[in-house]
Amino acid sequence: MELSDLGFDDWFRRQGEPYGSEYRMARVTAVDRDRYLVRNDRGEVPAEVAGRLRFSAESSVDLPCVGDWTAIQDHDAGTLAIIHHILPRKSVLRRKSAGRKSEYQLISANIDVAFIVQSCDRDFNLRRLERYLVMVNEGRIAPVVLLNKADLVCGHDLEQKIRETERAGIAGRVLGFSAKTGSGLDRVQQELERGKTYCLVGSSGVGKTTLLNRLLGREVFETHPVREQDGRGRHTTSRRQLIVLDGGAMLIDNPGMRELGVIGIGAGLDESFSDIHELSEGCRFRDCTHTQEAGCSVLAAVESGELSEERYRSYMKLMKESEHHERSYVERRRRDRAFGRFIKSAMRPKKRKNG
Ligand code: GDP
Ligand code: ZN
Repeated sequence: MELSDLGFDDWFRRQGEPYGSEYRMARVTAVDRDRYLVRNDRGEVPAEVAGRLRFSAESSVDLPCVGDWTAIQDHDAGTLAIIHHILPRKSVLRRKSAGRKSEYQLISANIDVAFIVQSCDRDFNLRRLERYLVMVNEGRIAPVVLLNKADLVCGHDLEQKIRETERAGIAGRVLGFSAKTGSGLDRVQQELERGKTYCLVGSSGVGKTTLLNRLLGREVFETHPVREQDGRGRHTTSRRQLIVLDGGAMLIDNPGMRELGVIGIGAGLDESFSDIHELSEGCRFRDCTHTQEAGCSVLAAVESGELSEERYRSYMKLMKESEHHERSYVERRRRDRAFGRFIKSAMRPKKRKNG
């Protein structure tokens, strides 16, 4: 595999020139807290961020994210890479951190095209589409709108939705298809170009995972963990988040991408699942999680067939993602505080010995 197969084009080549032969270029394929995987023409190895880069970082934006091109040095006979520099980013996918207004969280970098996925049935929502378009455009990523689940609407409906979407002033293409039946999928596949990087964004339940599995060839996200050894000699696994598809196009899918679909879900969840919200008012416990509680009206409705199991499952999936989002935010804050204390103690002036 050449660097160009991973997206290293003339633009990046120029950005990398100042680093000279001391460094090699590699693309970040996975991030898990402070652990990384990087890939280049020699293969894929675990990586760590050089202390200098870590301590000069003013926020997470200054640290590598999935898709970044970095200047690395090999360590331990090429089994570990140290990331010294991040090359300028051609594009970014980011979102505002929950809570703080001015702070951004980087989800991935150097994406050429974002597929914004909506489904033709319940999820079809131009306002939501607009929000995704703003985010994608701000990040200098080209959008392509995908309307999935075309099998659930008639051809006339689909045409109308495509026209509605186009009329809303969308610069990119709008394609209707069905990830389930495969109809129209060839047009989605035709969008994929060798050496270019793509991602799928959109609300939970629109069919991103189904489409992802359709597009996957040899490499598989979920079942292709890369084994590595951490500092204490334990074997751990990192999940690859940037993969090269059979046709040579790259696809990024990471937890941040998944959480994108859950922005501001709090009120929205009750709104889009008003039937379940209504049912839940009959639950015996006010804080019922609708998973196992006695006297749960939601479970009773699934049992009786009043509520379809599919709808119940997609509700629970969304709930879980939004809870996960909350949790990871709390965890992040906790880590930040611990890190702040560490910095303080490290910067405390050392006592002079000769006094
Ligand atoms: P994600 O949350 O965006 O990853 O969505 P999933 O891929 O998990 O799909 C959510 C649900 O929609 C699943 O039950 C899928 O089987 C279903 N689904 C996905 N694509 C289609 C489609 O093209 N047509 C229909 N009818 N259902 C689909
Ligand atoms: Zn309940």
